[in-house]
Amino acid sequence: MDQTGRLSRLRSALEENRLDSLLVTHLPNIRYLSGFTGSAGALLVSDRDCILFTDGRYRTQAKQEVDGANVDRIVIARMSPLMAAAEWLIAHKRRPSPARVGIEPESITAGMHDRLASVLNGRMRGTMKARLRPAPPLVERARMVKDAAEILLIRQAVELGASLFPIARKKIRPGVSEVEVAAAMEYEARCAGAEGMSFPTILASGARSAIVHGRASAARIPRRGFVVCDFGVILAGYCSDRTRTVHVGRPSREDRDLYEAVLEAQQAAIAAVRPGVTAAEVDGAARRALRQRKLSRYFTHSTGHGLGLEIHEAPRLAEGQTQKLEPGVVITIEPGAYIPGQCGVRIEDVVVVTSSGCEVLTPTDKELVII
Ligand code: ZN
Ligand code: ZN
Repeated sequence: MDQTGRLSRLRSALEENRLDSLLVTHLPNIRYLSGFTGSAGALLVSDRDCILFTDGRYRTQAKQEVDGANVDRIVIARMSPLMAAAEWLIAHKRRPSPARVGIEPESITAGMHDRLASVLNGRMRGTMKARLRPAPPLVERARMVKDAAEILLIRQAVELGASLFPIARKKIRPGVSEVEVAAAMEYEARCAGAEGMSFPTILASGARSAIVHGRASAARIPRRGFVVCDFGVILAGYCSDRTRTVHVGRPSREDRDLYEAVLEAQQAAIAAVRPGVTAAEVDGAARRALRQRKLSRYFTHSTGHGLGLEIHEAPRLAEGQTQKLEPGVVITIEPGAYIPGQCGVRIEDVVVVTSSGCEVLTPTDKELVII
């Protein structure tokens, strides 16, 4: 991974945003910049230094993981890594002007912010003060565009994820519980090397298919109806995400129409993905297709999301999102339609934006599977 390049681009962004340093506290951002995967850490990046603060549990791991990245120093904190970073800032204060320290507001609680501010300003009274500034999502913006190595890892995660669907097809039978199906998929995922699932597996059968995030439950699969399977794995840190909806028993005309409409919407959105279009335009393409079938009011969520080190990243493909797509952006395309109390359908793939359009990672047949 090109952590050196990432760090130097972040340093330019700090300068553009008039920040002396950035205190990175969102763990996936720390991983992106340094390779460190522990659950406790803070990374202080300035024009001169890049220092990782963690605790004693990660002494060995941190050393191994940041090897090769441009981390100048690892500080093993006796207190919380964030407070250790504050201590370091005090010990290395700058003159003559107060340091402008950027923080990541989305990952700092009000309590953490207050403790940080009181340590910094309490000890610096009379000399100079560090000013905490909520920073824009600089690392998240950088993470949105994946490099070739990341796309390869996502492709591998998506392929492993896709290989779980045949297991679901085999396992889904009337009377079998949703959790049993999920368990078979998850067992296979782990055997194949997944670190875990990227979110709790969604397996929603019968009337439960109308619940957008219907986690696998003890409910038994009915003799007839849709089963929404939405699942993903984490492989080498990167997430996959896919949804397929199957039908148990003979589908009615309305069921077939609903499925076709969602598939058309998904294909319309995929066809709209290319560099320069906004996230909202891709969302609009899916929504338009469902509107033509008078189903748009049943499409109650956004069309998709970025994914990578996290299952949900920038950009969000939704109304009003002005973020333009560019080559290397990896997103899901997942329109759905949910008729409350009756049934629901969702179809989801991961696509990567290319120079001329997009590539669907692991394209597969999306005809309605009848079990
Ligand atoms: Zn998704
Ligand atoms: Zn999904």
